[in-house]
Amino acid sequence: MKTLTITRPDDWHLHVRNGAVLKTVMPHTARQFARAIIMPNLKPPVTTVAQALIYREEILAAVPADLDFTPLMTLYLTGSTTTAEIKKAAECEHIHAFKLYPAGATTNSDSGVADIKAIYPLLAAMERHDLPLLIHGEVTDDACDIFDRERVFIDTYLSDITRNFPGLRIVVEHVTTTEAVQFVLASTPNIAATITPQHLLFNRNAILAGGIKPHYYCLPIIKRESHRLALVEAATSGNPKFFLGTDSAPHLTSLKENACGCAGCYSAHAALELYAEAFERADALNKLEAFASFYGADFYRLPRNSGTVTLEKTAWKVPAVYGKNDLSITPLKANEELPWKLQ
Ligand SMILES: [Zn+2]
Repeated sequence: MKTLTITRPDDWHLHVRNGAVLKTVMPHTARQFARAIIMPNLKPPVTTVAQALIYREEILAAVPADLDFTPLMTLYLTGSTTTAEIKKAAECEHIHAFKLYPAGATTNSDSGVADIKAIYPLLAAMERHDLPLLIHGEVTDDACDIFDRERVFIDTYLSDITRNFPGLRIVVEHVTTTEAVQFVLASTPNIAATITPQHLLFNRNAILAGGIKPHYYCLPIIKRESHRLALVEAATSGNPKFFLGTDSAPHLTSLKENACGCAGCYSAHAALELYAEAFERADALNKLEAFASFYGADFYRLPRNSGTVTLEKTAWKVPAVYGKNDLSITPLKANEELPWKLQ
């Protein structure tokens, strides 16, 4: 196959930050996707409808004038979120979900939820207002091995949440393990999952073998090969529970190549190309369109996009960095060749 044309896709899990970084990364996403679910983990986090609407304007101002892109906003769930704010969010056409970060799980999650049971009344309100809950599913317990944190979260919290709130739509974000795939498969249709390109393309050797490679470090951390294979099978299965969410998470190069490097892979520069590579390797390019363009929209009860994008089988080299000098961002597969190119 030399070209692949699909319905314009959406990114159902995206970090764009703010300020100078937002200006660097926003054109990449807007060129690839019609819409994206915008993560609220800014400093300070986006916890209210009013803050989200201001952030939305900042994002729209960073979209190049010739591109049409719609940010789908989310709010950051904290121990002090009120049911009144949940009602307000449900009534606002620009707010599409709440994001649950266990406190300390990842970048800017200090304001996250420390006691998950204590926020059950908030989950009940979200269920009542039919507002989806997006979960970063990892425990933060120091005693729990970093490679086990997703699996333990499922056993400790997620099973209980889905049992208690059967009507709540939940996205288990960026699943990374066989256990998470199995959990989603065994759940009701209102439990879905996003999968990132890095978790489809790489196993943990990419981070740790032949020297430490900080640009492959993200959370949840990339796991061993058997888990990668389970994720590829889920993504290419044609099951509508699994859809595209890049978790593209820009950090300045200086903060990645650091004695305590930040978690997050930047993939927005070539998101579709990276997914196409993973699907082609699995001989499943015919499954890419529904994964990228249909299932997420259906889950969020939004119309599927009109219009198309075309990928071409033309090798191109990813730049070493995007952005200038001390504001540079190193992309995933920097200086490497990608087999597919978005026209
Ligand atoms: Zn994320």
